[in-house]
Amino acid sequence: MKINNWLSNIQDWLLPRLCPGCGLTCKDPGQHLCPGCRVSLPVIDHGCPRCAIPYMHADIQGTCGACQRNPPAFASAVALYRYAPPVDHFIRALKFHHDLAMATLLGQSLATAVSNAPAHPDVIVPVPMHPARLRHRGFNQAVEIARPVARELGLAMDLDGVVRVRDTAAQARLTKPERRRNLRRAFEARRDYDGLSVALIDDVMTTGETAHHLARTLLKAGAREVTVWVIARTSSGR
Ligand SMILES: [Zn+2]
Ligand SMILES: [Zn+2]
Repeated sequence: MKINNWLSNIQDWLLPRLCPGCGLTCKDPGQHLCPGCRVSLPVIDHGCPRCAIPYMHADIQGTCGACQRNPPAFASAVALYRYAPPVDHFIRALKFHHDLAMATLLGQSLATAVSNAPAHPDVIVPVPMHPARLRHRGFNQAVEIARPVARELGLAMDLDGVVRVRDTAAQARLTKPERRRNLRRAFEARRDYDGLSVALIDDVMTTGETAHHLARTLLKAGAREVTVWVIARTSSGR
C-alpha cells in the first residue's frame, strides 16, 4: 500500500492527472476525483431496501409501494448513486469510450459500500450481455465493474453460468408488452446454482426488470437468494 502511494505520488508529479468528473487537474494525491466532484457525488443514503430506489425524505421507511404491490425476484438491492451528474457521465465514459480505469474506480467504490454487509454472497454474477452486443462493444461493462468487487471481497465471479439468449437492448421498436415478453425469456442458466446466494452486478438499474428476470432465472436454477449491486439507480419508479 505504501509503495502504491509512493508510486502514485511520483506519477502525479510527472503527469498531473485530470479529474474524470470535471476534467480539471486533480492535485489530491491518492484520489481519483477532485474534492469538488467528491462532495457533489449523488450518493443514495436512503432508499428502498428491496429495489434501492432513492427516497426523497428521510422519514420514509421500509419497502417502496412498487415493491409491496409487485415484489421483485431479488431479495435486496444496493445502489451507490443516483443516475445523475457526474455519475451518468462516468458510466457513459465507461460504456461508450471504453474507459476501463473508470470501471475499476466504480467497482472499488461498490466493493467498499458492500464490504460491511452482514453476509457476503457465495458468487458474483455480472449481468450477462448478448453475444452479438458483446462482439460489437468488445467488453461487458458489468464484468469490468465486477472484477474489482470480486478481487477486493475475495469472492468467486461466475461468467458463463447464465447466458443472455435474447438481445433485449436492441428491441427499441417493439411495444412494451413485446419487450416484456422477450425479457422474460432473455436469460438461460447453464449450470446449477444449488443453494448458492448470488449477487448480480450491473452498471445501472432503471426499471429493475432485467435484474428481476435474471434473478428469477437464477432462483429457478436453484439459487437460494439473489441480491443486486449496482453503481447507479434512476430516481423514477419501477
Ligand atoms: Zn472534478
Ligand atoms: Zn422498492
